[in-house]
Amino acid sequence: MNSCISRIVRCLPVAVSLLCVGQLEAAEKIKALIVDGQNNHQVWPKSTVMMKQYLEETGQYEVIVERVRFLWNSGREKEWLPRAGARKGEEKNDPIADPDFSPDFSKYAVVVSNFGWNAAGWPESTRKNFEKYMADGGALVVVHAANNSWPEWPEFNKMIGLGGWGNRSDKDGPYVYINDKGEVVRDPQPGPCGKHGPQNEFVVTIRDKEHPITKGLPDFWMHSKDECYSHLRGPAENLTVLATACDTPELQKAGRHEPILMVIQYGKGRVFHTTLGHDTDAFEGVGFIETFLRGTEWAATGKVTRPVPQNFPTAEKPLAQKFEYKEKSQPAK
Ligand code: ZN
Repeated sequence: MNSCISRIVRCLPVAVSLLCVGQLEAAEKIKALIVDGQNNHQVWPKSTVMMKQYLEETGQYEVIVERVRFLWNSGREKEWLPRAGARKGEEKNDPIADPDFSPDFSKYAVVVSNFGWNAAGWPESTRKNFEKYMADGGALVVVHAANNSWPEWPEFNKMIGLGGWGNRSDKDGPYVYINDKGEVVRDPQPGPCGKHGPQNEFVVTIRDKEHPITKGLPDFWMHSKDECYSHLRGPAENLTVLATACDTPELQKAGRHEPILMVIQYGKGRVFHTTLGHDTDAFEGVGFIETFLRGTEWAATGKVTRPVPQNFPTAEKPLAQKFEYKEKSQPAK
């Protein structure tokens, strides 16, 4: 703040000082990067635009989207592709690696991954740059199938804590869940990785009521129609489970509550991991939107300044907010 004041003081006279204040406001926005282009979830071109707009509507963020050159599975929602303000890309039948994908992560306070299952790997130099960015204090937000990506990239798996599918198994780490006593269980037994029942509305249970992301949220709230991921596995180092859910008879019989919201410390970097976000219904859930915004702010800054909205869903009833796209000029790359 002191440097802001001194900059304003230096920006006298008045006309210049107004200009300077405008520059300061722009400079103080949190710079967020959404990366996407290949996801087994057909919603991805739309969900990128939704997340971008949710962040921008807070007034806190400047959001840029960087997209791999070869797109995969963008057909159902292709009308949303240009609305992200990213490069056009080229649809392919398979996820093909883009050897030139190399965002300058150091420009951003937080990176949101909207990649998914089977996304092609990033170039080795890009992976190294991202590892350094995170270890030095960067921030990552992992949404739903972004935890399916890149089982072969050990450092990424440390960042996300737990992942699903992609032939992950006990070699990749234990199952992590919460039992009926509320204890975190790390179960190394062999078995497949990644599961979910049919999409449905389900209750999310807050497990850490003091973390900035979850503080003040109702202890139980009904999420909109979504997949409830279960049986995730991974290194789970420096991982804190913030919220869980248990949505199928199988999980209920086994007394397993599965991690839904998590945070992971990676070096000096912070990761917010939400397993929510399968399709439009989930992305329109107020519970998803608010926890995404709170988690992204915490990852980027270490704190949460958003008040809990009065219209947050209750334990009995989910609440959806129909997405309305707002045309606006995109910030330049
Ligand atoms: Zn899904």
